[in-house]
Amino acid sequence: MLTQEELRQRIVAVRRRIVAAANRVGRHPSEITLVAVTKTQSPETVAQAYTAGLRIFGENRVEEAGPKAADVARLIAPAAPPIWHMIGHVQSRKARDVLPWVAMVHSVDSLKLAERLGRFVMDLGSVEEKEPEPLSVLLEVNVFGEASKYGLTPEELPSIVKAVSVLRGIRLQGLMTMAPVVDSPELARPVFSGLRLLRDHLARAHAGLDLRELSMGMSDDFEVAVEEGATIVRIGRAIFG
Ligand SMILES: *Cc1c(COP(=O)(O)O)cnc(C)c1O
Repeated sequence: MLTQEELRQRIVAVRRRIVAAANRVGRHPSEITLVAVTKTQSPETVAQAYTAGLRIFGENRVEEAGPKAADVARLIAPAAPPIWHMIGHVQSRKARDVLPWVAMVHSVDSLKLAERLGRFVMDLGSVEEKEPEPLSVLLEVNVFGEASKYGLTPEELPSIVKAVSVLRGIRLQGLMTMAPVVDSPELARPVFSGLRLLRDHLARAHAGLDLRELSMGMSDDFEVAVEEGATIVRIGRAIFG
């Protein structure tokens, strides 16, 4: 486990790299949200990262994340609990299990999953007898088909966006992608610019939709992703080792 000071320094280094990448292309660094990916990290390490100033954490497994979020909340009490994002594949039969702890789901890759998430949010609302706050979601896109196992193809994206945008209980806010593992981050650039072009195209076709978020970039390629317009970067190893 890293010491508190080592962790702090690693976070500072990552933030500096985000700022430098944003500056290179004339973007304001405040446009970019850092999600610290804590999969496989202990609740104690997450609490340490919280103490070091991080507030948004990403998890990729439903089974691991719920209990961890509860443990972290206990460790840092009475401070306000952190914000959790689901970044990994969610089987639609497990959709209900993400709701208690999640603020945003990056990895919606089917209409069925979107429908179930929306329905469960509305169910919770009816129990509480008030209009529920919709859950923020992103659609995961497999920009060049081969990039990863999950994600929508660019071809199926327009019809899914249309269907998802009218669902109650969820609010579509943008797109997410995972670049393939490549030797140089430069090779991931077309994936990131491709996601941005897809988003721009959808935004023109659906003037009423706010597709502001582009979740793209991980430890090995986040600077290139920021240069290409990422608004959310998901970083694990560069922070936690
Ligand atoms: C693990 C993971 C990350 C972070 O990867 P690092 O290379 O550790 O930065 C980002 N996004 C998703 C979906 C992941 O599963």
